Amino acid sequence: MARPGAGKLGRNDPCYCGSGRKYKDCHLRQEEEWRSQQLRLRNAQDDLIKRIMNLAINADAGDLQTAFDRYWNGRYRFEQLAELNTWEGYGADRFMTWFAFDYRQADGHTLVSRLAATMDERDLTPLERQLLPNWIDIRLKPYRVERLHPNAGADIRNLLTDEELILADSHASLRLELGEVIVGHLVPVDTPLGRNTPNYYLAGPAAHLTPDTAEPLRTFANIHLVALRRERPQAGWSDLVRERSEIFNHFVLMLPTDKPDPERIERFVAETRQRLLGEEAEQNVEER
Ligand SMILES: [Zn+2]
Repeated sequence: MARPGAGKLGRNDPCYCGSGRKYKDCHLRQEEEWRSQQLRLRNAQDDLIKRIMNLAINADAGDLQTAFDRYWNGRYRFEQLAELNTWEGYGADRFMTWFAFDYRQADGHTLVSRLAATMDERDLTPLERQLLPNWIDIRLKPYRVERLHPNAGADIRNLLTDEELILADSHASLRLELGEVIVGHLVPVDTPLGRNTPNYYLAGPAAHLTPDTAEPLRTFANIHLVALRRERPQAGWSDLVRERSEIFNHFVLMLPTDKPDPERIERFVAETRQRLLGEEAEQNVEER
């Protein structure tokens, strides 16, 4: 049953579903309820992210330190954390988001998955409880901005799987540029009426990279996937991001901050290939 275009149907017309009732007494009411529920979900998103960040700040110091070294690849010392917002474009906030969503602690849980597992003992609102289970598998990933919708968001493509998502973050979209690559955490939130897929929002800040980084970043990710498959032949993108998503920050960390430097990027990708794949350095990587 297809819903007719918005605005065509009067409140007192028979409902499009064929129930015989007036539209206002049938689907109009359901649609209004849906819309306000989705709006409330969108607001709950902010509170849930704040709650998660608060837990991250108060996490075990040993875990934070281990995670810090992995994420920054030894470039900085943990004592420098506070400076990284300036030195590395929201680096401290990006790290804390990665810690909460991606870093697995000794019991195998991330901070987000543990919060979801203990949801019933916690002081979460019903809407936060609704959002949280869908955030367990969210990890740091690279995306490319495919289309911009001014003041509404953007269509973005997962650089690893080519899957397209709608980033409905109007605030974030003001900072986006067509074709650029963003490396960040995209969380599903509300689902507009008539769509099967949710709108996504940015949890925490993202790193913004120039369009020329898309292809080398894909190649770089491929090299890591081939290396992972030497240990586990069945491994796919989801395994790579679950276990090694910090590599995307290592790529960001290597990029020059002043102007594009394609040779530097090429060299970094070649070194990664040599280091991880050794003698098979010339072999073409199969899966994109
Ligand atoms: Zn109806």
